[in-house]
Amino acid sequence: MFPLIFIHLRWLDFIDILIVAILLYQLYHLVKGTIAINIFFGILAFYLIWLFVKALNMQLLATILGQFIGVGVIALIIVFQQELRRFLLMLGSRGLFSRENLRPFTSFRRSAYAGLNYESVVTACQRMALNHTGALIVLTRKSDLKYYVNTGERIDSEVTPSILESIFFKNNPLHDGAVIISDNRIKAVKCVLPLTENTVFPFRLGLRHRAAVGITEQSDAIALIVSEQSGEIAIARNGALKTSVTPKQLNEILAEEFGD
Ligand code: ATP
Ligand code: MG
Repeated sequence: MFPLIFIHLRWLDFIDILIVAILLYQLYHLVKGTIAINIFFGILAFYLIWLFVKALNMQLLATILGQFIGVGVIALIIVFQQELRRFLLMLGSRGLFSRENLRPFTSFRRSAYAGLNYESVVTACQRMALNHTGALIVLTRKSDLKYYVNTGERIDSEVTPSILESIFFKNNPLHDGAVIISDNRIKAVKCVLPLTENTVFPFRLGLRHRAAVGITEQSDAIALIVSEQSGEIAIARNGALKTSVTPKQLNEILAEEFGD
């Protein structure tokens, strides 16, 4: 009558559950703040529609949708190919039980975008705009963009106007590519960002602007651009670009995004 009492848990079952929890957390950590999470909700909606259509006995539609559901796992592997690659890469390069991976279980982590010293970033952009130094700065939010940090050279430095300016100084070997800032630290320089495939992109804007928009299409990060050609500041958010931003406007936008 009470089948539950016949279930006996072994130690290995606890370990089993723990490992699954860690794996799920790592997966979540990789996709949070990226477009993958939207794709996931899309797939969920698809599945619910299928259940609904089946319940209503709408045979034709149910059969067609059922064909897709039938190859579900393979479809998931194709759709999430990039995320799976990153996941496996991370397992291989850092190990499942490395300290960095287990940190969320051992301590409460601050939200990644609290307390960014954005005034320094604004000052740096203002100065670089004045002397036409080209710059591309990514400010992360929920997604820490680990994959893109790995495309550049890791540094771990304070965020100050002078450090940002000297990174983007033309003769500095590290000036090319993007700087990624998370947790109020400059995490990496020379990062290569994905380019937007937006076909109606203004012709006069080059790759720096395309890369800024690209990264904000694929994640919840904010990208700042200082144009080498025009000395203008631009800001990309959610795949949209706002050009000719004054330092004052930039300060207001960042205060709204990152202020306490
Ligand atoms: P500017 O107005 O400063 O000239 P732009 O949008 O015209 O900007 P480009 O002149 O095409 O951009 O590129 C300038 C720089 O942008 C490159 O030297 C490089 O540092 C950076 N850049 C280009 N593509 C990428 C990318 N995919 N990821 C990161 N940085 C990039
Ligand atoms: Mg250019």
